[in-house]
Amino acid sequence: MANSEYVEEQEASVHPVKTYGWAARDESGILSPFYFSRRMTGEEDVRFKVMYCGICHTDLHFLKNHWGISSYPLVPGHEIVGVVTEIGTNVTKFKVGDKVGVGCMIGSCRTCESCAKNLENYCPNMILTYSGKYYDGTTTYGGYSNEMVADQHYVVRIPDDLPLDTSAPLLCAGITVYSALRYFELDARGKHVGVVGLGGLGHLAVKFAKAFGLKVTVISTSPSKCKEALERFGADLFLNSHDQDQLQAAMSTMDGIIDTVSADHSIETLLHLLKSHGKLIVVGVPQMPLQVPIFTLLGGRKMIAGSGIGGMKETQEMLDFAAKHNIKADIEVIPMDYINTAMDRLSMGDVRYRFVVDVRNTLQKTMSSV
Ligand code: NAP
Ligand code: ZN
Repeated sequence: MANSEYVEEQEASVHPVKTYGWAARDESGILSPFYFSRRMTGEEDVRFKVMYCGICHTDLHFLKNHWGISSYPLVPGHEIVGVVTEIGTNVTKFKVGDKVGVGCMIGSCRTCESCAKNLENYCPNMILTYSGKYYDGTTTYGGYSNEMVADQHYVVRIPDDLPLDTSAPLLCAGITVYSALRYFELDARGKHVGVVGLGGLGHLAVKFAKAFGLKVTVISTSPSKCKEALERFGADLFLNSHDQDQLQAAMSTMDGIIDTVSADHSIETLLHLLKSHGKLIVVGVPQMPLQVPIFTLLGGRKMIAGSGIGGMKETQEMLDFAAKHNIKADIEVIPMDYINTAMDRLSMGDVRYRFVVDVRNTLQKTMSSV
């Protein structure tokens, strides 16, 4: 191990178990090998070997500090799946060898109103899987690493029927769109839902919406995705968001829209696509605030709302639903040392439709001394 790595390890080592992964050190967002540590397996903890980890656009936002809340060194990854290697004495839900996953959060207060309603995702003290502060004050590190340890409450079971690689993206992208469709009652058979942005979240939104029996229209800046949207994902219609004639023809036709766009964009056109009482649910998180055109909103009593991932109970329910309806992410599996190229491609929208890192087979050989 080189000297600089040793110093870095000292700084990041407050726990006894040596671990490793890839981290960014600053807002360049460039990732490279990183040695750190994780806690021993506590009474309530599940420890698992990471097999795959999805790459969410949120990872990119965090790496580049788009939202001003990143802390470095930053080990991203919150679509983490693996196999249990050790359990704490109080763990009843899992056993060694089980297929499990961890999504965006690894802690919450467990006493507030949100937690009491199984909405830990809206707990004011929710602890993010990475770039957060754990109860003991240490920085949390995500799934671009060899192993994870988490309280059993924040660990979900991957159903036997679901392959690990294609189910990793369900842990963030999947639950985010599933929860939005369910909570805003856009899951009733026959409703017409628009999905804006056919990326990681968007393509899963189409799959879940079709499984709910909805009519689905994809609204996209990429005409090249039309054929896949219709033939592969089963969308009913595809609108090129640069084509005014197509947009005009679809005005006032939708009950709801799930907006997954990661970049600054106008929502005026989207509001026009809604019927009266239609709901625009924003799940994408652009860097700048969106402009809200009030006249368009009040004509038709339309609603704009946000939705953030989902609670632990609902995440398990979503996975079980995905297994029943054979919902899998469309993925491009990559080796760990391809990660910086993958981030560049993600920033340019060049991914169909989720990158997933093959952590099990490719991480260790990128580390100099493990
Ligand atoms: P992604 O795979 O990059 O997909 C985003 C899609 O948005 C792109 O594929 C593209 O689709 C469209 N898009 C990109 N730039 C655009 C622009 N300038 N104008 C219009 N459309 C554009 O990203 P993702 O992983 O799905 O994440 C999407 C967003 O959701 C991110 O901001 C992420 O942080 C956020 N997110 C939120 C939650 C939550 O809990 N609310 C959870 C996870 C992620 P087309 O090519 O089809 O236009
Ligand atoms: Zn995510």
